[in-house]
Amino acid sequence: MGVPPTRPADRAPARPPGVPPTRPADRALARPRRRLLAALAALAALLAVGAGVLVDLATPAPRPADAPADAFSAERAYQNVKVIAARPHVAGSAANDQVREHVVGVLRGLGLETEVQDTVAPEAGQLSGAAGGATLARVRNVVARLPGTDPTGRVFLVAHYDSVQSGPGGNDDAAGTSTILEVARALAAGPRPRNDVVLVLTDAEEACLCGAAGFAADHPLAADGGVVLNLEARGSTGPVIMFETSRNNAKLVEAFGRAAPHPVGTSFAVEIYRALPNDTDFTAFLDHRFVGLNSAYIDGGAVYHTPLDVPAAMNRGSLQMHGDNALGLAREFGRTDLRDLRSGHDDTYFPVPGRLVHYPGWLTLPLALAALVAVGALSWLLRRRGRATAGRLAAGVGLTLVPIVAAPLGAGLLWTAITTIRPGYAELLDPYRPVWYRLAVVALAAAILFAWYALTRRRFGPAALAFGGLFWLALFGVLLAVLVPGGAYLTTLPALAGALAGLAALATRRDGPWPVVAVTLAGAVAVVILLPTVVLLFPALGMGMGGVAALFAVLLGLAALPVVDLLHPQAGGQRGLVALRARRLGPLPAGAAALAAVVLAGVGLAVDRFDAAHPVPTHLMYALDAGTGKAQWLSHEEDPQPWTDGYVDGTVSVADDFPGLGDAELRAGPAQAASLPAPKLDTLSDTRSGDQRVLRVRVLPQRPVRLLSLHVDTSTAEVRSATVAGRDVPVKAREGRWGFGVVFHAPPPEGVEVTLTLVPKAGQVNLRAMDASDGLGGLPGFRARPADVGVVGSHSSEMLAVARTYPL
Ligand SMILES: [Zn+2]
Repeated sequence: MGVPPTRPADRAPARPPGVPPTRPADRALARPRRRLLAALAALAALLAVGAGVLVDLATPAPRPADAPADAFSAERAYQNVKVIAARPHVAGSAANDQVREHVVGVLRGLGLETEVQDTVAPEAGQLSGAAGGATLARVRNVVARLPGTDPTGRVFLVAHYDSVQSGPGGNDDAAGTSTILEVARALAAGPRPRNDVVLVLTDAEEACLCGAAGFAADHPLAADGGVVLNLEARGSTGPVIMFETSRNNAKLVEAFGRAAPHPVGTSFAVEIYRALPNDTDFTAFLDHRFVGLNSAYIDGGAVYHTPLDVPAAMNRGSLQMHGDNALGLAREFGRTDLRDLRSGHDDTYFPVPGRLVHYPGWLTLPLALAALVAVGALSWLLRRRGRATAGRLAAGVGLTLVPIVAAPLGAGLLWTAITTIRPGYAELLDPYRPVWYRLAVVALAAAILFAWYALTRRRFGPAALAFGGLFWLALFGVLLAVLVPGGAYLTTLPALAGALAGLAALATRRDGPWPVVAVTLAGAVAVVILLPTVVLLFPALGMGMGGVAALFAVLLGLAALPVVDLLHPQAGGQRGLVALRARRLGPLPAGAAALAAVVLAGVGLAVDRFDAAHPVPTHLMYALDAGTGKAQWLSHEEDPQPWTDGYVDGTVSVADDFPGLGDAELRAGPAQAASLPAPKLDTLSDTRSGDQRVLRVRVLPQRPVRLLSLHVDTSTAEVRSATVAGRDVPVKAREGRWGFGVVFHAPPPEGVEVTLTLVPKAGQVNLRAMDASDGLGGLPGFRARPADVGVVGSHSSEMLAVARTYPL
């Protein structure tokens, strides 16, 4: 640890043998200089390691269109991105038909067996959009096969070709689809793989993951399962992160580390992802017999699902990284024996420059306990060597909680202040240019850590404070090992390295170079482990949760505290002028970091202004009750932007009038009724036997729509069973009047047939039919947005819903 003495008795350091005595004044001047040099060398080493970490996370250069035929070229893939993401192509739309035809044409052009799976499929996963009731879609998946020479199983490359209704999906997921087309080209150009490679371009991912669910459940090629590589994008730039795996992933992770040229992935991401309300097609595959890996790039989240998710917004380096990894993994899984990919355990894994480190998950708890024991041994040796008393070590543990708590709180307060100044950030996943704010949060965390250190160091001593940091890192490691095992390495390994370095430093001569070397090595371990986490947590969670990144930044600072301490005068080592000067300089790092935080936040506010290219996002939809002629504007903005404020005022629950929109509280305001037809409800048959009534109806939209819904007033009848487009749907009770409902995405023009088996409670049963299209232009009272006002990336932006109740 290289920590200096704190006991008065130690204040006159022993003269090493062979060194001539120096006069106190000389020593006082010479030792700080040597200490400063050591500090600068150690910091330079850590900065170099940090730079290596950042370079490793950078995206590769996109390869040109004339790259070798067996290589992945981002420029070639990008030509398909431009075609696929020419305009929004939501499932069921004519634009999506054209995208599908293009994808089929490219695959057939490669000579691959290609077909379209046209089916009705239920939702997968737990989507918030499913609040309206049981959800299904008509889907058309594109499925192509490259038959293997001696297959042991199948490799599935999966991406969705549909986009949201509110944007063209240049990244989400034209990136994944185009990556697969380019990987297929490269595979077809090379020797035939041993295993079957199946390319699955799914439909209706955005609506309900229904395409993937339909493929995984029903397609003959899916019957035996296999290994799935799902490719996604939730932003426009940044490294591709392998963020999700099937369970018992050790063999998959090993293959990933071996075969992906840019293996960025961490077992901590799996844990974070499970806590977020996101789902991808991968969920649908995991529900069936599949194993696999899920990868996405996630930075640049401001464009996610918005009209700005255009091809030009894409960092083609991210596309190259997607392709390099997907091609490497497709070849790897194309050649290995797929019969034995499940292992008995999960791996812990994380990136270090140039490679992926992984070890069995069952090592997590023993390692965490080892770190705790090492930290305990350090406390014993610190006391024995007289570097700290038990009381000071206890105080160090207590005091270290201050920055651990204050940094996330401070980051939260900083973001609250920034969003108060710029309320439009409330609807953005991340600002358009978040780098200034991210740096401001890191600077704030540093300011808090430095201020805390300046205030406590002289009184309690660096040894006790460094011990406090290691104690919490080790304790968090044990807690994580029990609760979030994939994340335990984040604190266990820095704690273990720090404690071992401290023990080594205490075992060597204090005046020699080894204590500095030891604490620098431990600091480097902390940088390698924690810096990628800080860097990747910002885009993963957005600025609203920047406090989590601040927490890990402080943990990194605590792990590197003995190196930071080298910048300070040796505790108790100087007297007189030097000590006085040092004391006066003590608050300098904290002051500089605090100033940097303020300046960086100010630069962020100055640079990241809303304009035509970076519009403030707004959410608006329109809902018409064709029965009563009552129409309203609706918005999910909690604190509406000025533009939205022109349409909405009070808050309503739409559950009673538009159950197909779910049961969220929305902002609402009166609107002029447009002359739009509600979906028709045709009774195909109506039979009664005993207390049951079987009602067969067809819901028939009277205009091009993206979805329709049908709900039953359960005060008029109990629903026993229901069939939609020939599929049985689960009868789950909903809250409120419309106690049963189904939502159907991408309905065919001939409508959707629904069969309800009911137990009537009244003479008539009330059914409410709703459908929804996209685009508010042309509605009475709608004024086009000014250039600097944009559309929120959401599944209901610009939605136009029409509903009507039918008593039958
Ligand atoms: Zn999406």
